[in-house]
Amino acid sequence: MTNLKVLISGASVAGPALAYWLHRHGFQPTVVERAPALRDGGYAVDFRGEAHLTVLRRMGILADLERVRTGTGSMSYVNSAGKPQAELPADLFAGDIEILRGDLARILYDATRQHTEYVFGDSITSLTEDADGVTVSFEHGAPRRFDLVIGADGLHSTTRRLAFGPEEEFVKHLGVHCAIFTTANHLGLDHTGHAYRTAGKLVALHSARHNAEARAVFYFAAPQLDVDRRDVARQQALLAETFAGNGWESDRLLQDMRYAPDFYFDSVGQVHMDTWSRGRVALIGDAAYCPSSLSGMGSGLALVGAYVLAGELAAARGDHRVAFARYEEEMREYAVGCQKMGDGVAKLMVPGNRALPRSSTAITRSCRTCRARTWPPRAPARPRRTSRSATTVNMPGGKRTEESSPRPRDLDAAMVHARSEPFHGSTAQRKLAVKRKSRDHRCCLPWLAEGRAWSSSGCFL
Ligand SMILES: Cc1cc2nc3c(=O)[nH]c(=O)nc-3n(C[C@H](O)[C@H](O)[C@H](O)COP(=O)(O)OP(=O)(O)OC[C@H]3O[C@@H](n4cnc5c(N)ncnc54)[C@H](O)[C@@H]3O)c2cc1C
Repeated sequence: MTNLKVLISGASVAGPALAYWLHRHGFQPTVVERAPALRDGGYAVDFRGEAHLTVLRRMGILADLERVRTGTGSMSYVNSAGKPQAELPADLFAGDIEILRGDLARILYDATRQHTEYVFGDSITSLTEDADGVTVSFEHGAPRRFDLVIGADGLHSTTRRLAFGPEEEFVKHLGVHCAIFTTANHLGLDHTGHAYRTAGKLVALHSARHNAEARAVFYFAAPQLDVDRRDVARQQALLAETFAGNGWESDRLLQDMRYAPDFYFDSVGQVHMDTWSRGRVALIGDAAYCPSSLSGMGSGLALVGAYVLAGELAAARGDHRVAFARYEEEMREYAVGCQKMGDGVAKLMVPGNRALPRSSTAITRSCRTCRARTWPPRAPARPRRTSRSATTVNMPGGKRTEESSPRPRDLDAAMVHARSEPFHGSTAQRKLAVKRKSRDHRCCLPWLAEGRAWSSSGCFL
C-alpha cells in the first residue's frame, strides 16, 4: 500500500467520514479544521434512502443518529394570520433521518478521534506538489508533508481555490439567499414547522431540540450579493431590509435575530467541476459537488462520496491516479442527479412572482413532480463495468436492460451506479442475476447491498 499519509481539510461531514473509512482501510488521516472547535448545533440535515442508511449502518453510527434525530413531522404553509393552508409531508423535507448538522459532526468526530489526528483552528495556505507528495503550509502550524490532500472544506473550499482556481469558476449561484438562526419556540410548535411564502420570499419557523428551541429560516430570491461572508452585521441589516413588514412572524423573528446565539447567511449555490482531482489533491462533499442546501442531499452525498473515495484508494492499494479516476467515475452521475434536484427545489421554494399553489395536494404534487422530473438520471453505457440503478442496468458491453420503476421514496438510493464485478455467463443468466439482485436489494449500490469486501485485502467491514 502507498500514499498512507492523507491530509483532509474540513471537519464537518465529508472530512470525518473520509477519515473513518481511510483508517478502516489502513491509511493515516489527519484532519485540519478552520474553526477553533467542532461546530455544534446549526440547521437540520437529512439522509434519504437505502444508500445513505447503509453507509451509516456500516459505520456503526446509525443507532447514534436515531438517538438524536429531530423527529420533525409534516410542515405547514400558513397565511399571514398563521392559519395553515397546506401541509407538506415529512418525507419531503426530513428524509428518513433528520439530524442537526452539528450533532452529526459530533457523532462522526467521536467515531474517528481515537485514530485520527485533528488540528482545529488552522487552515491550509499553500500546496506544493512533487513526485513523492505534497508540502502543505498552514496559517498557524509549521509546514508538513503528506502523500495526498483531500479538500472536504465545503462550498467555499480553500483547497479547491488553491489547487483548481478561484471560486467563481466553479460555484453556480441559484438565485436564492438563505439565513438561519436559533430562536425561541414562541409558537409552541410540536415537532413541526410553519412556513409563510410571499413573492420571492419564504420565512419559516420549525421546532428543534424536541421543541425546546426553534430555527428561524429565511430564503429570498436575489442575484449574487456582494456581502462579506464574515460580516454578520451587514448580513443581518440586509435581511432586515428585505423582510421588514413582510407579514406573519417576519418582524418578530427579525428582532429575535439580533440576540441569536448563531447566525448563518449565505447564497444558495452549487459546485460544478469537470474534474474533482488534480495530481495528489482531490475534493469531496460540498467542495467538489455541492448540490445546494435546498436539495436535501448534501450530507448523504458527502457521506457516500467519502465511502467511495476511501474504498477506491484501498482497492488501488493507494495509487491515487487509479483511485481518483474511479471515484469520479462512480460518483459523477449520482452527484449530477442530486444537483438537478437542488435546482428544482430552489425554483419551487422561492418562485419569484409565481403564485403559491393553494391546496395541500397541489403543493405536494409540485414537490413530487419536481423530484420526479429530475430523478433518476439515466445510466451511461459503460463497456468496462457492470453498472445499474433501479431503473436501468448496463450489462458488460454496454447493453441496457430496463427494470421496473421504483417507488419515488426509493429513487435516491438508486442514484449511484454500481461498481461490481463483470458477470461471466450467458445473457439469460446475467439478466436473471441482475433481476434477482435488484429484487433483493433496494439499494442500488451493489457493493453496499451485498456486503462484499471492497478490496482484495477484505478490509471493508
Ligand atoms: C442552511 C443549510 C441547510 C441544509 N439542509 C440540508 C438538508 O436538509 N439535508 C442535507 O442533506 N443537507 C443539507 N445541507 C447541506 C449539508 O449541510 C452539506 O451538504 C454537508 O454538510 C456537506 O458536508 P461537507 O463536509 O462537504 O461540507 P460542510 O458541512 O460545509 O463542512 C465544511 C467544513 O470545512 C471547514 N472549513 C472551511 N474552510 C476551511 C479551511 N480553509 N480550512 C479548514 N477547514 C475549513 C468548515 O468549517 C466546515 O467544518 C444544508 C446546508 C445548509 C447551509
